[in-house]
Amino acid sequence: MGLYMSRMLPSKPHFDNWREALKIISRCPICSENYHTDEAKLFAKNETASLVHITCHKCQSSFVAMIVMLGQGLSSVGMVTDLNFADVERLHKVVPLTTDEIIEGYQFMSQAEFIKEAVQQ
Ligand SMILES: [Zn+2]
Repeated sequence: MGLYMSRMLPSKPHFDNWREALKIISRCPICSENYHTDEAKLFAKNETASLVHITCHKCQSSFVAMIVMLGQGLSSVGMVTDLNFADVERLHKVVPLTTDEIIEGYQFMSQAEFIKEAVQQ
């Protein structure tokens, strides 16, 4: 698992389309191939965050993106994962995420030190 991206965009009023949000992550973190948003599958969503599983059509790597819509705008954090879509869907059902938990996880992954460690791997 490694962090690959964290990016802020200006806020858009009534912005709630996760496929639109996904466009801010335009490339596979492994092979840099552009992927199509129809390769992404939503497996969890609440009013704050969407969790999306993507499998790259070129290198078959899987990654999970968390798209967070906060007051200031839109941000995303992605993690490379060994889990397939069925795995993440099952895990999500076992451990339901609350908004607080998502924000907590997001803040953890957004910390500069964590990003630095991930980049050095
Ligand atoms: Zn790829």
